[in-house]
Amino acid sequence: MAGIVVVFDFDKTIIDCDSDNWLVDELGATDLFNHLLHTMPWNSLMDRMMNELHSQGKTIEDIIEVLKRIPIHPRVVPAIKAAHALGCDLRILSDANLFFIETILKHLGLREYFSQINTNPSYVNEEGKLRIFPYHDFNKAPHGCSLCPPNMCKGLIIERIQDSIPLEENKRFIYLGDGSGDYCPSLRLRDRDFVMPRKNFPVWYLICKDPSLIKAEIHEWSDGEDLERVLIQLINTISMEENSHFIPADCKLQTIAVSGHEVLSQALPVQQ
Ligand SMILES: [Mg+2]
Ligand SMILES: [Zn+2]
Repeated sequence: MAGIVVVFDFDKTIIDCDSDNWLVDELGATDLFNHLLHTMPWNSLMDRMMNELHSQGKTIEDIIEVLKRIPIHPRVVPAIKAAHALGCDLRILSDANLFFIETILKHLGLREYFSQINTNPSYVNEEGKLRIFPYHDFNKAPHGCSLCPPNMCKGLIIERIQDSIPLEENKRFIYLGDGSGDYCPSLRLRDRDFVMPRKNFPVWYLICKDPSLIKAEIHEWSDGEDLERVLIQLINTISMEENSHFIPADCKLQTIAVSGHEVLSQALPVQQ
């Protein structure tokens, strides 16, 4: 294991658009969406839109078909597979919803690469209608973070992820995102961690305003090709650093061929 947890935002990070906007636009409901946008929180509006689309006769199959056509940069899938092959623990932290994310990941053949999806819950009810709910129940227990929308504070969730990993495992985080909602978790990363904000997107502007507020090392990226290059380079650099860290001075390196092309480096004590 590389000792690295990679946390991906989903919309405009893994996929190249916003899945909510994509679905609403592709199913011809943009005007209604825009009309209602200022009357309720985004997440509640998406549940309302699913209701509207259902009453217009749009089925779950229609929704799945639209989601399968979602734009993604051709280098993102290989980047995710490479990060996984290098031993990283991959997770998603997204303000979309579970049904959209799982449908798209399954279609891309990526579902099993992620150990965890943190997002707004959603399910298809007995009428065949998709219901979408907030991650935090803001009526019962508001999260109290002024940076984040009422349904989800990604900073709180990244803290929960940090707390779920024993400190002695010494895991280092790489966080990738584009939106203003990705700023709060970026602030919670620690000084051995890394944040990858998408250049010229809201989180990048927020970070650039005062980079001294960010303890993690900042590595920007602009498109899927860049994401792949920066991410894999970071993982390799961290892995090399960690490996050299664990090799005491009186040990020598021995390289063992494991299977075919795979090579494992192991520290062995020097014989006296
Ligand atoms: Mg995003
Ligand atoms: Zn927050």
